[in-house]
Amino acid sequence: MDSVKAAIREIGRQRPLLTLNLEVLRVTDLSFGFRRLTLRGREIDEYLDPLVADGFKVMIPPFDALDRKLEAPERDEQGLPIWQEHVEPRLRALTVRSLDRARQLMAVDVCTHSDGLLNRWLSVIAPGDNVSLSGMRVEWFLPAEIERLVLIADEAGVAALAAIVESLPVDLMTTATQILVPESTREYVEGIQAEVPKSAVTYLPNLTGSTANLITTGGCRTQVWIAAETAAVRSLRSTAKYEWNVDPRDLLARAYWHRTLNASAVDARDLERHRKALDEGADIHDPQLAEDLSLKD
Ligand SMILES: Cc1cc2nc3c(=O)[nH]c(=O)nc-3n(C[C@H](O)[C@H](O)[C@H](O)COP(=O)(O)OP(=O)(O)OC[C@H]3O[C@@H](n4cnc5c(N)ncnc54)[C@H](O)[C@@H]3O)c2cc1C
Repeated sequence: MDSVKAAIREIGRQRPLLTLNLEVLRVTDLSFGFRRLTLRGREIDEYLDPLVADGFKVMIPPFDALDRKLEAPERDEQGLPIWQEHVEPRLRALTVRSLDRARQLMAVDVCTHSDGLLNRWLSVIAPGDNVSLSGMRVEWFLPAEIERLVLIADEAGVAALAAIVESLPVDLMTTATQILVPESTREYVEGIQAEVPKSAVTYLPNLTGSTANLITTGGCRTQVWIAAETAAVRSLRSTAKYEWNVDPRDLLARAYWHRTLNASAVDARDLERHRKALDEGADIHDPQLAEDLSLKD
């Protein structure tokens, strides 16, 4: 029996670190609260193993840098990224929303919360600018034996959720999938290019309220996928485990951002936690490790 976590660990082990140097084609306003960055470039041909909702880090250079092309990171002996000679660029995690290999295009959807580096960067970049990104982190896998799905995301995770929904077999989507998202994402979610029954989606004022009674698994093997703010993910993970009785191996709980820290501070904190865990013999590819470290108080 393949669990989502076992599969993700195995795929992660085999995936090489990929760096792509692409260029901005356009930045467009999408539905309320979201902008789409469209990238293009020959190096998309090197992205040989795309998976649904792959996560990557975009390397944001100083805004006044003339050449926005950055050196690729390498892996140190523990498997952690390091940059040669350079001051480390500021990194932000994003999702491959869609990929058009034939036209060498990649779309990325960014939520426009007010005070982030990412949106300031989106405001200054122009068509033709270089964009370097590095990845890819496996964010999704669907074992064949899964009977029910629960997908939960906030504004930061909903681009990945959209990519996942568009990849699902029609039967599973229309009869066995439940989606919980905040009301603020309604317009974006309604734009998903898949047959999503209205009854499958519950719009909530926010994800931190009570969700225990919203899901019934009926004893079926259920996979739960969560991508949202850290505290919400922590609480939803425990609801999934203890109220919905989901096997933790079929549960993927991803902290996509932190309410009181910017992403650079989160990365610095997690890097320290990873170094310590790896020194103690942990497996860097184990999604349970990343989950536990990022959700620790
Ligand atoms: C694997 C992965 C994939 C991701 N994919 C996407 C994606 O496709 N699209 C996307 O928009 N985000 C995505 N995120 C989330 C994104 O990386 C974070 O939200 C990141 O902090 C945004 O950086 P920033 O420069 O905007 O804000 P930061 O500089 O990191 O933070 C500045 C302030 O804004 C707050 N903040 C950060 N993110 C949010 C938010 N989403 N809403 C409200 N306040 C926020 C922080 O608490 C901080 O106070 C992903 C995260 C991960 C881990």
